[in-house]
Amino acid sequence: MKSLIFDNAFVRDLPGDPREGPDRRQVHGAFYSRIHPTPVTNPVVMAWSREMLGQLGWDETVIDDPEFAQVFSGNRSLDGMSPYSANYGGHQFGNWAGQLGDGRAITLGEVLTDHQRLELQLKGAGPTPYSRTADGRAVLRSSIREFLCSEAMHHLGIPTTRALCLIGTGESVVRDMFYDGNPAREPGAIVCRVAPSFIRFGNFELPASRGETQLVKQLADFTIRRDFPELKAPATGPLDQSLYAEWFAQVCERTAVMIAHWQRVGFVHGVMNTDNMSILGLTLDYGPYGWIDNFDLSWTPNTTDAGQRRYRFGNQPQIGYWNLGRLAGALLSLFETQEPLHAGMDRYVRVFQSTDKNNSAAKLGLTAFTDADEHLHQSLQELLQAGEMDMTLFYRALADWDLSQAPSARWDAVYYDQAKREATEAQRQDWLLRYSNRIKELGLHNEDRIRIMNRANPLYVCRNYLAQEAIDQAHQGDVRPISNLLEVLRTPYTHNPQYEAYAQRRPDWARNKAGCSMLSCSS
Ligand code: AMP
Ligand code: MG
Repeated sequence: MKSLIFDNAFVRDLPGDPREGPDRRQVHGAFYSRIHPTPVTNPVVMAWSREMLGQLGWDETVIDDPEFAQVFSGNRSLDGMSPYSANYGGHQFGNWAGQLGDGRAITLGEVLTDHQRLELQLKGAGPTPYSRTADGRAVLRSSIREFLCSEAMHHLGIPTTRALCLIGTGESVVRDMFYDGNPAREPGAIVCRVAPSFIRFGNFELPASRGETQLVKQLADFTIRRDFPELKAPATGPLDQSLYAEWFAQVCERTAVMIAHWQRVGFVHGVMNTDNMSILGLTLDYGPYGWIDNFDLSWTPNTTDAGQRRYRFGNQPQIGYWNLGRLAGALLSLFETQEPLHAGMDRYVRVFQSTDKNNSAAKLGLTAFTDADEHLHQSLQELLQAGEMDMTLFYRALADWDLSQAPSARWDAVYYDQAKREATEAQRQDWLLRYSNRIKELGLHNEDRIRIMNRANPLYVCRNYLAQEAIDQAHQGDVRPISNLLEVLRTPYTHNPQYEAYAQRRPDWARNKAGCSMLSCSS
């Protein structure tokens, strides 16, 4: 294996826990605890990302090197690695939850590549001081989901943490999937995640909640210098107020862009707790996430959230704002007045609105977007919801529709319910007429309209039932469907006749099946 260059800034520059080992504990005055992955019996590489291998300077032959599975299961360390788990807190479902921390994630080290710094982190690598009552492991089903969706989001052009590889541990893990008193053994796995930084809002919230304002400042300075080079902070000495202000506004802006793109493609994160919010505005912690099949603003994939629906599709933009408010609260001590924090929050609103507007225009293939167009898009969303239409397939069918012709049989594929289809038929005719009039008014050529639309509307998304099929087959011992699905998700916007099976609405069998529409945090 070609060697990697490590530069472990987090553990070098920030204070750590003096104690070692996985005893569960409250850790004060420190950002991390040094901890080694717990070895596994029989690690097997199940899937990998060739793009991420490439970024680390490897090609796919590295997979055949037995050392690869040993290293990325945590059994063996490479020279220069300095493993640790991070200490952070968070607001879970709206309530302050105190210290959480990496209960099953262990960072191996920070690699310097030609282009950037990349932190390698194992998820499911064994107990840490932050594991509380849990085991520090991860099951295969949730690891497949995290692996696939991390890469799928990247190929959709949405900021995300990445996944290098998925490794089966050869060991089983006990989980009570629906917290209903039915624990079962499941195969275990480890995902190696990759990002320039895994720092979360919660890393700032924890010291702030304990009144450790000096630590908040230390982490802010570190983050600005390491992860926001564009802010051009001086390498040493105190940072001034305007720099902190611009940094916070940048975090707000990135969060806004990320969430606007989630809304564009129909991604529902499912657990937008502040400990799952990346300071870099990356989609982070793929747990009970889901993809919109039939358009439904009130849908949440997370059964743990079924009552309150706090993290439902249509609420994600508001939750982004609320979470930034918690971060702002944690950063108060950096500022002499609250004004820069309000300015950052305003930036969130502005950037979300403008990004969402551009996305809406592109989804409809419009080259201008007036208030009337805003209204047009809103009435479409009402139609999609009332008619129970598939979000992904609808926008592609709309692009395919030759405006001079009557809508074709292609529309059949977007409906889930015949009665709802019939009940909304007149509404649909009316909307299509308004839409085609607007296109004519703009004088748009059909090819141009199609090109704009097919760049904004993916055809292949990581639908829950597709991931579940790959999971079911992996449980039967066949891991090839994971890589096959990843291959499709590499080019989500380009129609490929060979991939017809991946561009279908959710089949009836998956409507209420565990893993397809119902997921829990148990992973
Ligand atoms: P999540 O809901 O996945 O964001 O996790 C919330 C907290 O629970 C984080 O501190 C996780 O590290 C921790 N956690 C979740 N699953 C496990 C597990 N199997 N073992 C240890 N800690 C866990
Ligand atoms: Mg988490």
